[in-house]
Order: sequence, then structure tokens, then C-alpha cells
Amino acid sequence: MNRVILIKYGELTTKKGNRKIFINTLYSNILKKLKNLNVNIFKDMSRMYIEYLDEDKEVILKNIGEIFGIHAYSIAYKTESNLDMIKKTISEVLNDNLEERNYTFKVETKRSDKSFEINSVECNNVFGGYILKNFSNLKVDVHNPDILVHVEIRKDYSYIYLNEYKGLGGYPVGTLGKCLAMLSGGIDSPVASYLALKRGIKLDLVYFEAIPHTSLEARGKVINLARKLYPYAGDMKLIIVPFTKLQEAIYKNCLENYSITIMRRMMFRIMEKLTKRFKALGIVNGESVGQVASQTLTSMNVINSVTNLPILRPVACFDKLEIIEIAKKIDTYDISILPYEDCCTIFVPKHPIINPNLNTCLEMEKTFDYEAMIEDILANLQIINIDSDKDLDYSDIL
Ligand code: ATP
Ligand code: MG
Repeated sequence: MNRVILIKYGELTTKKGNRKIFINTLYSNILKKLKNLNVNIFKDMSRMYIEYLDEDKEVILKNIGEIFGIHAYSIAYKTESNLDMIKKTISEVLNDNLEERNYTFKVETKRSDKSFEINSVECNNVFGGYILKNFSNLKVDVHNPDILVHVEIRKDYSYIYLNEYKGLGGYPVGTLGKCLAMLSGGIDSPVASYLALKRGIKLDLVYFEAIPHTSLEARGKVINLARKLYPYAGDMKLIIVPFTKLQEAIYKNCLENYSITIMRRMMFRIMEKLTKRFKALGIVNGESVGQVASQTLTSMNVINSVTNLPILRPVACFDKLEIIEIAKKIDTYDISILPYEDCCTIFVPKHPIINPNLNTCLEMEKTFDYEAMIEDILANLQIINIDSDKDLDYSDIL
């Protein structure tokens, strides 16, 4: 078969010096994703080409549509770089892909091989004339054509294709290092994680659990959310933090209206230790300014002051409706709205403070030995490998 999937790189073309790393990472991400299929992948500095078996076409297109770092992709017909072969292949593409009706068209030639016998404007004319002569149902319209006939002339081969699929854009996952993403069962954190992946950040995930106040169904929900991220992320660890004793100590020793503020300070203290252990460079979470009491700027200052790590908040300035739109697109929404409680929704104070004072926090934190509790927590982590996108049957974990 002379067809290949032709891949155009995304934003990485702007990263001149790092181009090789970006392309190699994208290459290995594609290779991993298609590992169970019979494909050959070739790359150069501006394109990637996948040779595939026709029966795998749909699966491959779906998979390519889930990989960050791709601007566009198409099914292209490959041929030798000479005028006669290109014309013959244009006929083949049109015969294979068009219905028996009238179309308007335009030829768009890209000639990366500057030694090719004629330039791209001349190519457009030659191929356009060829199509007009051989396809009576096709007329030229250079402004608003029904179909674009793309011809890419490269040194070794040329590629002809009609439709392009839009890729996800972003950077290939892994090119910008690793972060730990705080994944609760809510709507925001899976979306935040997805957006961090889009920036090329590899993730491991952290879930704070407070059994028996939270249920195993809540854990199942988080596992299923993680599995929804798997197609975009590849393998990840889900680190489960046993938070119960520390959370109970906070409610016993601190003012009720400060409990969420201090709980979140404890979360970040633990996150900082986890980033060292799991060799991550920062934290990602789903905070959105103004959404709840702990997400006012004053609260964020007091909470954030326990760590110097970069904390990425990809949805910080999104409206809830914008977040929901992405949650639906990545199919996490229906899981997120399942009713199971997470550790932030138990013991919710009636009036959580929206302007907490740092000194008050520090005074309350002196009244119990949270450091020992954190050590204990770190000795009792559970780690689940996320290596599939299959929905977990909740009965599996109960
Ligand atoms: P979400 O919808 O993602 O749960 P939220 O609007 O409910 O967010 P909060 O509960 O205040 O907001 O949490 C803010 C962020 O803190 C979450 O988006 C998530 O990144 C992190 N977080 C909260 N609870 C947990 C938890 N139990 N485990 C891990 N991360 C958590
Ligand atoms: Mg939440």
C-alpha cells in the first residue's frame, strides 16, 4: 500500500534549539501508543510518516488524535518525486476519495526540495490543469474550494492528500519534565491535569484519602478519572496518601473555620516531600480563583507559603462552564459528578475563613506534632500503576 499517515508537528517548530528532543519524544510517544499494531514510523525534522495496515487505520487515527505535539495529520499517498508519478497519484487520490458529484478545488503545493524541476506556483498550475483535463466534475475555486489537493514535494518522495485532521497541539508529554498532579474526585483537577499534559509535562498523580470518612468508591472514582487521562498521558503512578489521622488531628486541634486552610497547608507539605521522592519539579492542581474559600488570593498566599515549588494551576482563571466543557471533551465529567465524598468535602466547616492569617495558622500548627504524622503517612503510601484506559469495575476494589 502506498498510503502513510503524515504528521505535522505542533508548536515545537518554534523551539529551534530543542527541536531534536521534541521530535524524538514525540516519536517515542507515538511508538509506545501504537506498540500493539503493525506499523513503521519514520521521522525527519519537519514530518513523521507512519506506514500501517489498512485494517488498523481507524484505531491509528483515533490514537494519533490523543497525542500532544501534533498540529495536523492526514492520510497521504506516497509516490516518487517526479511530475508523472505525482499526476498519476493525484488521480488515484481523487478516484479513491471523491463521490460522483461536482466539486470546486484548489491545488496547494509545498516544495521542500528546492531542486525539483519547477517551483510551487508552477506546480499548482501544472497539477490544476491536469485535474481539469481528467476530471470533468472538478472546477477551480482558489478562494473557497470544496477540496484542497495538498501536494508535498520532498527529496525522496512526494505526498498527496485531501483532508487534514486537526491534532491536539501542545508539546509532546515528557519534554517539559515531570510534575505531581493533585487529583481529587472533582471536576477541576482532571481538567487541570489534562492541560498540564498538553504543555508537555509528564505526570504522576496524588490522591489524599481519608478512610473510613471517605469510601473505596471514592478511590475507584479517582482511579477511573486517572484512566481517562491515560490515553493522553501514558503510564502514570497514582499515589494514595493515607490522610485520615492527620485530618482528624486538624479538626481536634485547630479552629473549625481554619480547618480547610490548615488541611491544605498540610497537603502541600506532603506534596513537597512527594516531589522529592518521585523526582518531580512542581505541583499541578485544579484550584480556580474565587471558586471556594480556600481559593481566594489571601487563602492561596497563606496556603502556598509552606512551599517554594512551582504550583501550576491551569484552570486558575477559567469559568466553571469552561472547565466543564473540557471535562466533557475528555470524558471525565460523568465520573466527576458521581456522588462519592472526598476528603475535602467531609468535616466542611460552616464558615471557612476566606481571609486567613498566617500567624494564626502557625500558632495552631504548634499544638500538635504534624511532622511525625507526615513521616508516618510517607511510610504508608499506596501506589497504583495506571497503565490502561479501561473503566474499573467498582466491585474490583471493594
Ligand atoms: P476539584 O473539582 O478538582 O475537586 P474543587 O473545586 O473541589 O476541585 P478544592 O476541593 O478546593 O476544589 O480543591 C482544589 C484542588 O486541590 C483540587 O482541584 C485538587 O487539585 C486538590 N485536591 C483537593 N482535594 C484533593 C484530594 N483529596 N486529593 C488530591 N488532591 C486534592
Ligand atoms: Mg474537590
